[in-house]
Amino acid sequence: MTDGRGETPLRNGPTEKCGVVGVSLDGRSAARPLYYALYALQHRGQESAGIVTHDGFQQHSHVEMGLVGDAFDEGDLDGLTGEAGIGHVRYPTAGSVDKGCAQPFSVSFKSGSLGLSHNGNLVNADEIREELAGLGHAFTSDGDTEVIAHDLARNLLESDLIRAVKRTMGRIHGSYALTISHDDVVLGVRDPEGNRPLCIGKLDDGYVIASESAVIDTLDGELVRDVRPGELVVLEQDGSGFDSYQLVEREHTAHCFFEHVYFARPDSTIDGTLVYDARRDLGRKLWAESGVETDVVMPVPDSGRAFASGYAEAAGETTADGAPRDDDDDGPEFAEGLMKNRYVGRTFIMPTQDERERAVRLKLNPIKSTVEGKSVTLIDDSIVRGTTSTQLVDLLKDFGATDVHMRIGAPAIVAPCYMGIDMATREELIASDKSVDDIAETIDADSLAYLSTDAVAAALETGRSDLCLGCVTGEYPYDIDGEATDRDVTRPEIDGQAMGADD
Ligand code: AMP
Repeated sequence: MTDGRGETPLRNGPTEKCGVVGVSLDGRSAARPLYYALYALQHRGQESAGIVTHDGFQQHSHVEMGLVGDAFDEGDLDGLTGEAGIGHVRYPTAGSVDKGCAQPFSVSFKSGSLGLSHNGNLVNADEIREELAGLGHAFTSDGDTEVIAHDLARNLLESDLIRAVKRTMGRIHGSYALTISHDDVVLGVRDPEGNRPLCIGKLDDGYVIASESAVIDTLDGELVRDVRPGELVVLEQDGSGFDSYQLVEREHTAHCFFEHVYFARPDSTIDGTLVYDARRDLGRKLWAESGVETDVVMPVPDSGRAFASGYAEAAGETTADGAPRDDDDDGPEFAEGLMKNRYVGRTFIMPTQDERERAVRLKLNPIKSTVEGKSVTLIDDSIVRGTTSTQLVDLLKDFGATDVHMRIGAPAIVAPCYMGIDMATREELIASDKSVDDIAETIDADSLAYLSTDAVAAALETGRSDLCLGCVTGEYPYDIDGEATDRDVTRPEIDGQAMGADD
């Protein structure tokens, strides 16, 4: 292991950063609810979309590149018969557009058919792939989802479903929220650290398992609860309920804090916290830690909006020194000073820096009257490469801002994510080798401040030891080659474990 600041090790093939869903219904086809669910999860992945259903006799699959709305037509949905199924949206990785990695992954084998949707990223997929390939398994992609599917299929030849999942969970190491269909039985599995979100919802005529609770709202259902870290949930085939199996227990969780900061929808509740409330609270804490008195406070839309509203609300109550405001002092004005072009989505492929800069300019334009002659606090959730903040500070000054102070609702991102969020390599991250003052100078801001890690833990009502903070501390809750860990963790030994049942 290095001190976490060494060379970035190569990742295990393409990383999987996605949204997953599974439903089991009584007397209604699963295809359309799954399709609507994928729409609700579109923000989690725009590269490909897919649905696998099972009608009791046969598995049906439709997986396409592109957005959900483009991936399916009426005929495709009609062909996806059956009352049980799973779905997936996949996140784009700059430069790699690979249908081999689109999901759900589906196979038919001796013990039936299997469909698998994965959100997260394994750190020992290569070891398991190598072992299974040695035993004759033929792989069609270099993604880690296929590794899970093969391992599970192999275990299913020797044991029942619950034991097979448990054996696979004992072998895979990393982050995974899975929805699985084994024939017409739908399951949900969350990794023992609960890194990626997964929740259970009740519908009028069945149950749903999904990455985010916004799916359940979209389907007019009720959130039952989160899938627990290390838990397997098996939906009843008649839609009447679900069984729970706590297959692995750990002392600590490693929830990804960045789900709350950036990735998840603000209207989703994850691990008991409404994302919007968490972001507003992070904004309030940002004011308390590093508030600066300016004429206006404005968000980078849409990612900075909830942070900026919390920050501005707190700024209206106390001064930057923490003293209560006088009655005639309202504090900085909250202003939507940047307009976003909604038609430039995250699908815009930006492999080069020049294209990334162009994309910021295409996406955002200032409203002159809210900026001209004013001091501005600009609020965003995060700085990754620094492209957005550099461009925006420059733009606001061009439009007449007297000074621009940047405030960020999360700690500085200093290290890559191996757990399924496409951040950037360590070399590309602006904070990996620069101090806050150096970054402020680079992006030409009059001041810059990030939120502390303790404030993040407080806002999420979680101890630091129950969060994955790898990207902001460089210490990970998983055993990753070349990286430091923040806990006592070692990846499972793989050699020979595929042979012989040991549950
Ligand atoms: P950058 O311009 O590289 O500094 O990226 C910062 C901007 O990208 C912020 O506006 C964030 O909201 C957004 N962002 C943060 N993380 C990601 C991610 N994993 N994928 C896409 N955009 C992101």
